[in-house]
Amino acid sequence: MDFSLDAEDEAFRDELRNWLDEHLQQFLADTEDEDQRAAGVPSQERRKAWQRLMNEGGWAAVHWSTEWGGRETTAVQRLIYSELMAEYRTPGMFNTNGIWQIGPMLIQWGTEEQKNRWLPSIINADDHWCQGFSEPDAGNDLANLRTLAILDGDHYVVNGQKIWISTAHLAKWGLFLFRTDPTAIGRGAKHEGITAFIVDLESPGVERRPIRDMSGEEMFNEVYFRDVHVPVDCRLGGEGEGWMVAMSTLGFERVGIAGQITSLAADLRAMVEMARSVNPDALADPGIADRLARAWTEIELTRLLVYRALSKVMRGEKNWPEVPFSKLQWSMLAQTLAELAVDLLGPAGLLARGGPDAVDRGKWTRLYSFQRYSTIGGGSTEVQKNIIADRAIKLPGQTRRP
Ligand SMILES: Cc1cc2nc3c(=O)[nH]c(=O)nc-3n(C[C@H](O)[C@H](O)[C@H](O)COP(=O)(O)OP(=O)(O)OC[C@H]3O[C@@H](n4cnc5c(N)ncnc54)[C@H](O)[C@@H]3O)c2cc1C
Repeated sequence: MDFSLDAEDEAFRDELRNWLDEHLQQFLADTEDEDQRAAGVPSQERRKAWQRLMNEGGWAAVHWSTEWGGRETTAVQRLIYSELMAEYRTPGMFNTNGIWQIGPMLIQWGTEEQKNRWLPSIINADDHWCQGFSEPDAGNDLANLRTLAILDGDHYVVNGQKIWISTAHLAKWGLFLFRTDPTAIGRGAKHEGITAFIVDLESPGVERRPIRDMSGEEMFNEVYFRDVHVPVDCRLGGEGEGWMVAMSTLGFERVGIAGQITSLAADLRAMVEMARSVNPDALADPGIADRLARAWTEIELTRLLVYRALSKVMRGEKNWPEVPFSKLQWSMLAQTLAELAVDLLGPAGLLARGGPDAVDRGKWTRLYSFQRYSTIGGGSTEVQKNIIADRAIKLPGQTRRP
């Protein structure tokens, strides 16, 4: 791959860098308070303010069309964007799902009325949005979803249960997948008969129950639907087109891995600095030194893997097996680094978030348990390995397709 940027991409990078240099430090100084310091994560209010500021600068949804406030970026520019956001350690957006997944689905599949109704509220962080796909028996096997939506006049009646829905308890709106053809699974055509809907989560019959995860946070939810009425004009795309709607924005999610790799590189540097000040003996340990060197090498290797995937996209080729490889590498590295951080801290690694002596507000200790999610979310490790075995190595076996 040729690593040099063309003039347009350089101009994009410089403009974003200049904007961040001008706005970020001031924003962080203005919005940091004791609560946020104790929590070690940006509050929703801070995320909202940051997204609004980004939107004022035209940086909130760079991959959207200009008509809706975006910049119609190329794949290379999205990579630059994602890496710069990670390099500057920006606070994170209020509507990550809305910006990266739901907005593009609305732009591609929505009617003019739907776009006018929802896109401005997503980009300007007026309402929070979530994405409701998973069910108790439909995770990796998402097409097995069974929450039913049956047409009844000018609305659908919805019954069933979703699970693991991030931030549903904070959301006013969600993009959900429901089954509108209850016969599809029985017919052996489970990808058919699925339809996408925009759901008002304050509707009667919707119940959200937060789930406490192993790091002590209540970030995701079970969502129950009992005879919930969803108006027909909240259907996104046609009946039975839900699978295509849902899959249409996966590419944006995958570019995000480039930013996550940059974040890991910044984490590794920060961990070494942290060890220098609180537990310098750890750095003299040959075992730790070896793990640091290996982690650094793996990060650089994964960055190159992501670039190779991108160069394939630019040549119009399929960007896999690099995509499942990058997901495997990123999740392995995220967990390796979280374990390394706690070992670098030594005994202080046991001090939990919120405690008065916790190092870096307990951020590293939290990551130790939180990063377990990385081998599950966004396609679990076993399933990525199946894909590689099946399609890249072409091993004979059950999963192999003709
Ligand atoms: C932090 C977090 C946030 C999430 N947020 C959302 C959200 O906002 N919205 C949403 O819809 N979902 C969300 N999810 C759910 C996520 O998409 C699912 O957890 C994921 O799809 C896996 O599904 P599952 O948990 O049902 O596991 P399962 O699919 O039941 O898998 C369980 C285990 O079996 C293995 N397995 C499954 N199938 C195979 C196979 N064919 N071969 C070999 N092994 C297999 C898996 O690898 C895994 O180890 C979130 C999950 C996490 C962890």
